[in-house]
Amino acid sequence: MAHQHYRTKGIVLSKKDSGEADQIFALYTQYFGKIELVGKAIRKITSKLKAGIDVFYFIEVEFIQGKNRKTLTDAIVIDKFLEIRKNSEALACVGQIAEVADCLTITERKDEEIWRLLLVIFQKFNYKLLTNNYKLISHYFLWNFFTLLGYSPELYSCPICSSKLLPETFFLSPLHGGVVCWRCCNFPATEIMVDSVKLIRFFIKEPIEKVERLSIWENDLQNLNKAFKVYFDFLAEKG
Ligand SMILES: [Zn+2]
Repeated sequence: MAHQHYRTKGIVLSKKDSGEADQIFALYTQYFGKIELVGKAIRKITSKLKAGIDVFYFIEVEFIQGKNRKTLTDAIVIDKFLEIRKNSEALACVGQIAEVADCLTITERKDEEIWRLLLVIFQKFNYKLLTNNYKLISHYFLWNFFTLLGYSPELYSCPICSSKLLPETFFLSPLHGGVVCWRCCNFPATEIMVDSVKLIRFFIKEPIEKVERLSIWENDLQNLNKAFKVYFDFLAEKG
């Protein structure tokens, strides 16, 4: 039986060993969204496929659709993002981005905007980040990614009482969809600094070229990390 071959560009988010010599790769692709591809016997020294695919590669793949899974039949490297691999901070940030993207995207749901955002971030990290502030650009990705998934946090008015959020004590409640004012917050919630809320607004509203020019304090970054974790844990659990 002849199988139809499919081709698409994609970024490899993760890989894991399977069986004797196989590997399973998760990719975010241009035409299919997230997919899993089985690299058959790819851990064998004679494998012709192995040079063309690895984590965080930007590649063009060809695969066939079997009954239950997709099998990789060809992989051509477009960019290995070698500069990212030489830089431990960039590598850690890309690792987090790939993990979040892998965890929160639904298999075979194509999304051009998520594809473009992922590609832009990888290219920025590899080629031309102005201030070397990888963590800042990671947050740009993460908050825009949540927004593209339909989970844009409410940052302007309290989702419970609808009053406009004035710069005072805020709490982040993913369950309520964003930032809740202190009057409404009669449940355990994480405090979020006013500056963090302003930064997240900026990330979602402004282009990456403006975001990468920002300078950011370490304690703002820590508060942003905390806010991200609360939001991500909620979405990951929600499935
Ligand atoms: Zn309120």
